[in-house]
Amino acid sequence: MDYLPVFLKIEDTPCLVVGGGKVAARKVRLLARAGANITLVSPAVCDEIDAAVKQGTVTHIKRRFQDKDLDGVVLVITATDDEALNRSVSELAKQQRIPVNVVDSPDLCSFIMPSIIDRSPVQVAVSTGGASPVLARLLRARLESFIPAAYGRLAKLVDEYRQRVKDRFPDSEHRRYFWESILQGRVAELLFAGQDEKARTALQGAIDDVDTHYGETGEVYLVGAGPGDPDLVTFRALRLMQQADVVVYDRLVSKPILELVRRDAELIYAGKQRDQHTLSQESINELLVRLAKEGKRVLRLKGGDPFIFGRGGEEIETLAAEQIPFQVVPGITAASGCASYAGIPLTHRDYAQSCIFVTGHLKDGSVDLDWERLAKPAQTIVFYMGLHSIPVLSRELIAHGLSKDTPVALVQQGTTRDQRVFIETLETMPDLPEREQLKAPTIIIVGEVVQLQEKLSWFGKEQ
Ligand code: SAH
Repeated sequence: MDYLPVFLKIEDTPCLVVGGGKVAARKVRLLARAGANITLVSPAVCDEIDAAVKQGTVTHIKRRFQDKDLDGVVLVITATDDEALNRSVSELAKQQRIPVNVVDSPDLCSFIMPSIIDRSPVQVAVSTGGASPVLARLLRARLESFIPAAYGRLAKLVDEYRQRVKDRFPDSEHRRYFWESILQGRVAELLFAGQDEKARTALQGAIDDVDTHYGETGEVYLVGAGPGDPDLVTFRALRLMQQADVVVYDRLVSKPILELVRRDAELIYAGKQRDQHTLSQESINELLVRLAKEGKRVLRLKGGDPFIFGRGGEEIETLAAEQIPFQVVPGITAASGCASYAGIPLTHRDYAQSCIFVTGHLKDGSVDLDWERLAKPAQTIVFYMGLHSIPVLSRELIAHGLSKDTPVALVQQGTTRDQRVFIETLETMPDLPEREQLKAPTIIIVGEVVQLQEKLSWFGKEQ
């Protein structure tokens, strides 16, 4: 081990920054977050430091560094581009046993600064021993995605109850077991779901060994998996995917996304094909209730966003009626995912001031839509589940006043490596499914914004 990782308490403690540029400003910001009493010495300072001086965060000594500036200081950071100066500050500090950091010069440092994930009071610091700050930053980004933002609140809650738990479980082994179950269980989830009071009640209940109804049943996470590209899954979705006991998933959930699910979770396919339901909606609702009542953490994973043509509302209505705890995690819906990856802004000041999402799903062979309202100028229409209604969509939109030359984009398997984008007009669109052997899932975007695709497409394109 080349360095000893420590966390320094520097609140109200004199720290010195040498240099007045942008890098120095970054260090000032960091020291200020830890409450240091900061003095900065530099003949000139950048705007950010100037503002910090005016706010009283920093005391500015407006001249070059002098040896006496180190008097009484417990920590010094040097961020100047004068190598000789950096070196002499470093040597002097080392002689006086004052920890010194010289930005970008590990040789001159007696301590180095890590990349930080801050969920105060929880902090994670990553260091590569100065070998590669970029690698440290990449690692940090990965860790950021795995540590829920609410961990700070969770740690504060634990801190609040620490003594009570200690009194209740004098045996340290017992206590560790207790905290492990709290930190990975319902209390933590309640907190992440923004239900702090319930989390407190549940924690107090667990301490008193009282049934609070927040512990024994499982719960359901209704999670949007986005349109296909696994990079479009949210941090929260990923975390819940890693903790679920059972995953009930749809046909639209892509394979690479399913691979993100915890390895030993049970997978149940509840896919639906048009007109040919594998599991009826009622059976899915019942399945979720039954699994949760068995005490399982159930991940209901849906393509796109669960509340956009996803029947997510119906599923949680049943859960709510049965008093089963649930949370809903939004996903990127097919309209925004496919439009972005096809290079089509759904709204644009010059072409469309509104955008409307509708389903083109045929019910008894007809599409029951308010065509008057759809066929408006300066409006983008996105049809979900419209593949089999294309002739009707084309006919009705033209009949209700849209020009037959209105551009249309059809995006098949959007955001995945198999994405195909076809640009047509309302008039030419009906031949396309046959001509190109279109298959589901395909989304249809109608409106003048589609013109922009030619200029703005980027995904899968050699540039
Ligand atoms: N809840 C989902 C929509 C479910 S309806 C969401 O928010 O995206 C299913 C329809 O969504 C499909 O018929 C298709 O029109 C569209 N769709 C979903 N994923 C798609 C994708 N990757 N590419 C193109 N269309 C998609």
